[in-house]
Amino acid sequence: MADRVVTLNAGSSSVKFALFAADADWPQLIVAGTVEGLGAKPRFRVAIAGGETRDAPLAGKLTHKQAIAAIFAWIEDAYPEAAISAIGHRVVHGGLRFAAPVIVDAETLTALREFIPLAPLHQPHNLAGIEGACEAFPNVPQVACFDTAFHRGHAFVDDAYALPYSYYERGLRRFGFHGLSYEYIARRLRAIDPIHAEGGVIVAHLGNGASLCALKGGRSIATTMGFSALEGLPMGTRSGQIDPGLLLYLLQSDGMTPKKLSRLLYERSGLLGLSGVSHDMRALEASQEPRAQAAIAYFIHRIKIEIAALTAVIGGLDALVFTAGIGERSPRIRAGVVEGLGWLGLALDGTANARNDAVISAPRSRIPVFVTPTDEEAMIARHTIETVGLSAAAR
Ligand code: ADP
Repeated sequence: MADRVVTLNAGSSSVKFALFAADADWPQLIVAGTVEGLGAKPRFRVAIAGGETRDAPLAGKLTHKQAIAAIFAWIEDAYPEAAISAIGHRVVHGGLRFAAPVIVDAETLTALREFIPLAPLHQPHNLAGIEGACEAFPNVPQVACFDTAFHRGHAFVDDAYALPYSYYERGLRRFGFHGLSYEYIARRLRAIDPIHAEGGVIVAHLGNGASLCALKGGRSIATTMGFSALEGLPMGTRSGQIDPGLLLYLLQSDGMTPKKLSRLLYERSGLLGLSGVSHDMRALEASQEPRAQAAIAYFIHRIKIEIAALTAVIGGLDALVFTAGIGERSPRIRAGVVEGLGWLGLALDGTANARNDAVISAPRSRIPVFVTPTDEEAMIARHTIETVGLSAAAR
């Protein structure tokens, strides 16, 4: 039977999965899907490579483990010939220790639990995904792939906060996230434009979560997210950059508890907080509300600032790449950013941008601008195949 790899991405109320064939040099997608609405009204949605989709409600409220059991039961039913050789998991935090994917054993799982306070909204669900998959397939290797790993190895000046040095030694650092997406884009860019890919590249991962990464020679040099996934750009519901003095004020003078502050920063801020309309860029773009338009202007403004800052870090820009939901599909946001950076030598091809073309810079642009769909699942599958030693390439 042919080797098959499953990837799992367990979030707060959903589990995304994908099934890949592992026998080619690059993992080939067979089917992808989501169980969403965990703890409420769960639904099972799948998209089979080639176009067919299915969408059905599931009975009960479902925990993560039950959702994972439902996913594997569905895969076994739909693809009875598939021998699952390994399962790859997205894990948001690998701390200082994990700079590469790792096969999970009991000791690793204990180490990963120690990072829960560093990413309380994501890490517990990621680990529940691993535990659920271990129960369903105790004899299949489980590989943890980290969002932080691609950013390990940043220079001290991009890794530290200017707190007493002992805090840095304790590991209170700028970890950065979205690493699986950036790693995938770095690989794709090498295929699309190998010359520019070797230079200074900024990738804008603009989804519900949003960050930028500066690459040089395909390696991460700096990124806008830091110790937590709150730093940097404003996001759907997260604040992004904020003066820590304001947080002290809220704690000391406004009587806010840490729990309320956490909810404010993670769930009530960003595009949602500014607009009062929605966290969703499509809804903001369609809205006539002045505050929705102001939220869009703020988003573009901060992206331009951070691109300029990262350009300084890598000593000049050779290519800009947009990816993730907004980056791949919002001509308006891309136009705002690119046209606002004309002084840097960027020029937009409006027609190509409106079509979401792969290249949206005008021929006169000194710097090419790409729109490149990300594929974190394929990156997890690739890491899993390599880590377990399945592919011809790995052998
Ligand atoms: P996540 O970070 O949850 O994976 P995505 O990468 O799917 O999120 O991005 C979701 C964001 O992309 C939402 O703000 C959504 O409105 C936005 N988006 C998706 N399609 C479009 C579109 N056609 N135009 C503008 N924004 C879009």
